[in-house]
Amino acid sequence: MAIDIGKLREYAAANGIVLEEEMLSAFEKYGESLKEWNEKVNLTAIVDDEGILVKHFIDSLLLLRAVDLPKGAKMADVGTGAGFPGIPVKIARPDISLVLVDSLNKRLAFLEDLCRRLALSAERVHGRAEDLGRQPQYRESFDLVTARAVTNMRELAEFCLPMVKKGGCFAAMKGFEVEEELAQAKKAIAVLGGKVQEVRKYTLPDGGKRSVVVIKKISQTPTKYPRPFAKISKSPLK
Ligand code: SAM
Repeated sequence: MAIDIGKLREYAAANGIVLEEEMLSAFEKYGESLKEWNEKVNLTAIVDDEGILVKHFIDSLLLLRAVDLPKGAKMADVGTGAGFPGIPVKIARPDISLVLVDSLNKRLAFLEDLCRRLALSAERVHGRAEDLGRQPQYRESFDLVTARAVTNMRELAEFCLPMVKKGGCFAAMKGFEVEEELAQAKKAIAVLGGKVQEVRKYTLPDGGKRSVVVIKKISQTPTKYPRPFAKISKSPLK
């Protein structure tokens, strides 16, 4: 079995995303690699073709509906795991420059092999986002920082907002019910220089409901943030 490429094209087109032949073929190879690697390394619990198509590929691509990514934009995907949402976005938008970040090395090994197979250029960083946020080459330097299914909004804001440049965005991909954790993160978002722009709700072709929280970076993050992980989890900003 393989990913149904016709369906992928159709679902994407229904959401205003045009996938060309070579992009569809990249998604086909992505699905194959994911299933192959997942037999030896735990990358994802979703391994059926329809699940990969809808819950990974389409869900990731729908980020493009929530944010405006100018040509050549710099994007970082924090806690990318097996490449979601970063790799699908890069396949559909080869003009962007992508940095994939994950703290787990076995996932980076998969991403290295995948990028080679798809001839896709993306910087892969093995590390924690909050450490990168203190390094000059990553701090305040991205047009978009995104993260899907990584942690609660309050911690995530401190992981991600320091890397976003002023005028850029942080987009957190979440389940449907996000209001409560967003309310808890309100103070953190403001302290770190962000402002909630939109909570975009959407439904996947399988009926699954999701949201993307889009936060605009309106001022620079104070230099004392991000703090080391132990501090972030012990004394969350509130
Ligand atoms: N984003 C992917 C997705 O939606 O399929 C993976 C989600 S997985 C549940 C969370 C990932 O975040 C894991 O691969 C984990 O290693 C990574 N992670 C958690 N905290 C992180 C941090 N502070 N910096 C970088 N990666 C982190």
